[in-house]
Amino acid sequence: MSDDTTSTAAPAEGTSAPAGGTSAPAGDKRCCNLLSIVIPCFNEEEVLAQTHRRLVLALEGAPAALEFVYVDDGSRDATLNVLRALRSADERVRVVALSRNFGHQNAATAGLAHAAGDAVALIDADLQDPPEVIAEMLAHWQEGADVAYGVRTRRDGESVFKLGTAYLFYRLLGRLVDVAIPVDTGDFRLMDRRAVDALLAMPERDRFVRGMVAWTGFRQVPVRYRRLPRAAGQSEYPLRRMLRLAADGLLSFSRVPLRLATWLGLVAVALALLGAGYAALTFVADAPLPGSALLFVAMLFLGGAQLVSIGVLGEYVARIYGEVKRRPLYFVKERLGFPSAQEPSSKEAP
Ligand code: UDP
Ligand code: MG
Repeated sequence: MSDDTTSTAAPAEGTSAPAGGTSAPAGDKRCCNLLSIVIPCFNEEEVLAQTHRRLVLALEGAPAALEFVYVDDGSRDATLNVLRALRSADERVRVVALSRNFGHQNAATAGLAHAAGDAVALIDADLQDPPEVIAEMLAHWQEGADVAYGVRTRRDGESVFKLGTAYLFYRLLGRLVDVAIPVDTGDFRLMDRRAVDALLAMPERDRFVRGMVAWTGFRQVPVRYRRLPRAAGQSEYPLRRMLRLAADGLLSFSRVPLRLATWLGLVAVALALLGAGYAALTFVADAPLPGSALLFVAMLFLGGAQLVSIGVLGEYVARIYGEVKRRPLYFVKERLGFPSAQEPSSKEAP
């Protein structure tokens, strides 16, 4: 699969038309009145002041007014206080504090729902994604790209295990899903207003933002960059959460695992038939196999195949269960720094 996913399928039904003024005629540069930067934060007290300084510095020359939408995803440290201090010092800072920890993908969604920009950038708080790249992404947007997504050419400071599993995961995902999800891509990206609105119009609970953005089909261009180690603090994506995100990516975008269960069943049946044929032959040749050996292997195999199939079914059923409850993706406990017209209570539960 190519990195350069420049699919231009029609926008999903129900998504809004381009906001007035954001798309310029061909040949002309798009003009950005407001650029929003969305930053989900979970226990990031150590790094936030530095992050804000770097963001401001990196975007000093940007041809747009700026707003910084920080989302406190139920941090247990002083993150919210640090954000309050940032807000007092810089009136372009907006803070959305969620009522508890809802996870990175939901926190990012909350931030996007609160961003008012013509273009919206999504970046991690820990400075692993260099803020300077946003300017380059904005340039692509001005040239007409709807989404400029970061592609990690190198990932410094990550364990061999994380690098290896991420590498394999993106390749496996590429083979199994129907949508061209770019490889080695995180959520670091800049999106046009209509891509953001499209994303917010997608109500699913198990959110795999990078896949959903690819699914919308708007024009996407890659921007290569080198992913750095965290500036401070530690990753809040332990193995359990990484696996969960990987499962969301796979199961939300592919029915292959369901089919796999069917195939596994078919293989089991075929093997069982072969075994039965072989047993019949040995019987005819007057040297029958000990029945218990055959029975043991067959039972193990069939039992295993059935359990795997039930497990796969269960994963999908669990997701359906999550969806039918139709719970909001997050609750906001406090907003700081938003002009009252910009408080999007209607967008909170797509
Ligand atoms: N994050 C979040 N909620 C969570 C976990 C993480 O908002 O439950 C934020 C975190 O503050 C950071 C970003 O999501 O800005 C990425 O998280 P992290 O750096 O822990 O993930 P990694 O870079 O190791 O994949
Ligand atoms: Mg990180």
